[in-house]
Amino acid sequence: MEDNPYLLLTPGPLSTSKRVKAAMLKDWCTWDDDYNRIVQDIRTRLVQLATKETLLYSSVLMQGSGSFCVEAVIGSVIPKDGKILVMANGAYGKRMAQMASMLNIPLLLLDNGEILPPDLEELEYMLQKDKDITHVAVVHCETTTGMLNPIEAVGRIAKKYNKIYIVDAMSSFGGIPMDIAELQIDFLISSANKCIQGVPGFGFIIAKIDEMTKCTGWARSHSLDLFDQWDKMENYNGKWRFTSPTHVVRAFYEALKELADEGGVIARYNRYKTNQRALVKGMKVLGFETLLPEHLQSPIITSFLYPACEAFQFQTLYEKLKRRGFVIYPGKITNANTFRIGNIGEVQTIDMIRLVDAIQQEKFWT
Ligand SMILES: *Cc1c(COP(=O)(O)O)cnc(C)c1O
Repeated sequence: MEDNPYLLLTPGPLSTSKRVKAAMLKDWCTWDDDYNRIVQDIRTRLVQLATKETLLYSSVLMQGSGSFCVEAVIGSVIPKDGKILVMANGAYGKRMAQMASMLNIPLLLLDNGEILPPDLEELEYMLQKDKDITHVAVVHCETTTGMLNPIEAVGRIAKKYNKIYIVDAMSSFGGIPMDIAELQIDFLISSANKCIQGVPGFGFIIAKIDEMTKCTGWARSHSLDLFDQWDKMENYNGKWRFTSPTHVVRAFYEALKELADEGGVIARYNRYKTNQRALVKGMKVLGFETLLPEHLQSPIITSFLYPACEAFQFQTLYEKLKRRGFVIYPGKITNANTFRIGNIGEVQTIDMIRLVDAIQQEKFWT
């Protein structure tokens, strides 16, 4: 674990490699050519990670955490007479709806609760019924529970009715293979500190160029104007509009190279999947049950139900595990007592086995 006090088993920020952290040990100029070249290389690499159809897509980096990027998209790509349908089955779907609502964007919320997958029949029914809808948005890996939503099926329906398709792939991009051209996604959002395994400080959007260019002047916020940010980066050789998180960008560049060295997204996906399976297998031996059935479960983060024993207290387990070098995550859903364990970042199967051992040794509640 090098010199970290603990391993982060959270959905990001997550444990990063020494190599990524080392990239932040120098101070970098923000408008220098070398830096701009790195920004441009990052943008190219992101598009290559997202699709084989690299000529049809472009990427843009945006300061702030992932939510700032989601808000930049929601606030910039919907015209005045547009209306967004948000499919939500967790906190992140609901957050998109809240953003639309605060920006006074006409909104239809299809809320499926927290433990069911999105209702595709209802989606199709809504799109048939409400002709005002122009955009459909959904979360890929709903980090609230760890559920993996069917973005391919949602995209097929959205496109059948010619809607612009927005996907929050914050906690999956870089960790789950996907081709956004095949998935028919127009705007995909992710951030530096999730599956690419960088540190927090900015996010990015990968957009279909045809759709991005339509958004000139539509933004409802100046600093979160997605089109303007993209236009500057595109036409001024990688320039950010305002101060950029230079250290974080350098670290992210190293993280992208590290991802390539690992063998790309497929290799990383396999590592995450192996981690997740080892975790669940070990936890089941200890008597824990997962919130979701296996077929809805992502390889990113898993929700576990509290054990039936009344003496169980999450906070106690949390503190004890922290002392043993692991940080786990509280639950986020309203109608069941859960806690979450993430398995992304600089984390290996052996760490999952060590964690399960540590939980067994702290099995004070039985
Ligand atoms: C992490 C995450 C976000 C962004 O959260 P921030 O705290 O703003 O970085 C958005 N959506 C999903 C699904 C996420 O996992």
